[in-house]
Amino acid sequence: MEKKDFVIILGAGESGVGAAILAKVKGFRVFVSDMGMVKDEYKALLISHAIDFEEGGHTFDKLKDAEIIIKSPGIPDNAPIIRQLQEYNATREPRTQNREPIRIISEIEFAARYTQAKMICITGSNGKTTTTSLIYDMLSRAGLDVGLAGNIGNSLALQVALHDRQYYVIELSSFQLDNMYDFRADIAILMNITPDHLDRYDNCFQNYVNAKFRITQNQTPQDAFIYWSEDPVINREIARIQPKATLYPFGQNEHNVAYIDGSHLVVAAPQAVEPLRIPIEQLSLQGQHNRLNSMAASLAAQILNIRNEVIRESLTTFAGVPHRLQYVATVNNIRFINDSKATNVNSCWYALESMTTPTVLILGGKDKGNDYSEIDELVRQKCHTLVFMGLHNEKLHEHFDSFAREPRTEHREPIRIIDTNNLHDAVRLAYEAAHPGDTVLLSPCCASFDLFKNYEERGDLFMNEVRHL
Ligand code: ADP
Repeated sequence: MEKKDFVIILGAGESGVGAAILAKVKGFRVFVSDMGMVKDEYKALLISHAIDFEEGGHTFDKLKDAEIIIKSPGIPDNAPIIRQLQEYNATREPRTQNREPIRIISEIEFAARYTQAKMICITGSNGKTTTTSLIYDMLSRAGLDVGLAGNIGNSLALQVALHDRQYYVIELSSFQLDNMYDFRADIAILMNITPDHLDRYDNCFQNYVNAKFRITQNQTPQDAFIYWSEDPVINREIARIQPKATLYPFGQNEHNVAYIDGSHLVVAAPQAVEPLRIPIEQLSLQGQHNRLNSMAASLAAQILNIRNEVIRESLTTFAGVPHRLQYVATVNNIRFINDSKATNVNSCWYALESMTTPTVLILGGKDKGNDYSEIDELVRQKCHTLVFMGLHNEKLHEHFDSFAREPRTEHREPIRIIDTNNLHDAVRLAYEAAHPGDTVLLSPCCASFDLFKNYEERGDLFMNEVRHL
């Protein structure tokens, strides 16, 4: 029997364990190594597939002879074990002919070697999960054999190993893209690029931009590149690198393949029998940002020859993704919206922009160096009360307290500021401050780690508090 390569996997989370199972199924010798402790569910999976692993640290001697190295996207390139393996490999015997140099690859890169499926890949700084979920909804409704992968759901590798599909809709972070080389997306979607995660990119925005643009690498004119045409960074890069794929821009004006025409959203990929026209008010995901997400998703569906009726049905009934402008309940005619995933100021901007009633905004949490002035105008336009909810609200007070002292005008009362340091009080006081017909919006602008495990826990507890009002 042919001697199979030795595969090591660094990081035993969803992607690492999936990659390990796929490598095992394909007959490789496999070893998994994790710096921290492996979750019980993943341990059970590794054991049931007879895969060796270690936890609580990396043993270099057990890893150094690998021919294939798969790294979890959570491990930075400058982690000591990565440096050590790279240095060691540089000194190893030159590879024999026909042999690739040893590269550190992502789970997605590895998994894609073992499937013929069509790949629909979504990246961007914001809107990835929503757009990915919407496309998955459209493809499922159309009856296609489709899997959801990447940052959402089960890893691509696990699906390829256990139940391969004909289509995958994959949410890709810049960290996954970093370790992709030969992967080719049949449809690549780039939502937007704004500075994020710069700590992992040597504080260099261009490095982050380059990572995002890897989504177009290896694409041919038969493939599609869907992108937001009003993003200056994306436009600059397209002019610079000239992607080979066929371009499908979307945006406000009609020079795009998907655009806004008065009160309608129009999607007109050449593959469609006729353009799809849908009244904006009928879209189930409301707000300017969701129009962009809806355009990108619909273009992908049209390129895959999905009928306009199916796309329309999805756009008008898709229930949305939890914690993103999620409707919770209406209590005494006050609507409660959970936007706990808004962990930065830009996301809160889009949430406020979509508000159609007077609003009580609950915000605060772990500040990541926020500049709140981005939402000043919308706060003045849409909110009558701000409820601060965090362990440290000083920065919020510093920025917004003066709003409470602004003069009363014919159209507007000064904004009321309420200080709390827990969710229970925040919800109660927001409810008391709201009038019938208003909306209470949790859109914190901040990370959740001061009071909660993650944004999901924050959102779940918020919804729980609302249900107990
Ligand atoms: P991601 O997966 O990229 O973090 P999500 O779809 O989870 O994005 O949305 C996260 C937040 O980002 C949402 O709560 C919303 O406020 C904002 N958002 C969603 N789509 C967009 C978009 N196209 N442009 C800008 N902001 C967006």
